[in-house]
Amino acid sequence: MLAELEMDNGHYARAIGRLDTIPRQDIVHIPTMLPALRHAYLRNNDEAGFEAHLYRLLEQAPYTSIIIALGQLVHQRDGVDKAIELIGERLRAVPSLGGLDYLIDLYIESQRLSGKPSPDTRLLLLKHHTDALLLNRTRHRCQRCGFTSDALQWQCPSCRFWGTIKPVIGVEGE
Ligand SMILES: [Zn+2]
Repeated sequence: MLAELEMDNGHYARAIGRLDTIPRQDIVHIPTMLPALRHAYLRNNDEAGFEAHLYRLLEQAPYTSIIIALGQLVHQRDGVDKAIELIGERLRAVPSLGGLDYLIDLYIESQRLSGKPSPDTRLLLLKHHTDALLLNRTRHRCQRCGFTSDALQWQCPSCRFWGTIKPVIGVEGE
């Protein structure tokens, strides 16, 4: 990928420019490119730019992975309570299993910070369930033959078509 090449050469701004063109080609690639985007912005010391970029992506597609990336940024910068507020607000608009799982993590972290010796057992029970559901969910599916896969593959191993495997969208997916 060209963006990775730019990053290897230390050209983070150029890498961001390359990554910025991906969603225009196909918004389903947003979740796959998020780690590279975060890396490029943070190596470029541009956290505000990363945050603005995430909000731009959210307008194109309300994907859970974008919401979680925003939550992680807010958690690190403004603390766990601000992250809980943001994720709670986003989940009301777009419910998702991945978002709920992350919200439970934040609640557990919040309890830890408030000095509770161990997390509320009710939270741990909820976490147990979201973990199990996430483990068993289908992440990607071929739009042509229905083949399911954990990874985003360019060619479907079942029907051999190219570019037909997409992330699953909806409450259990993106
Ligand atoms: Zn297929």
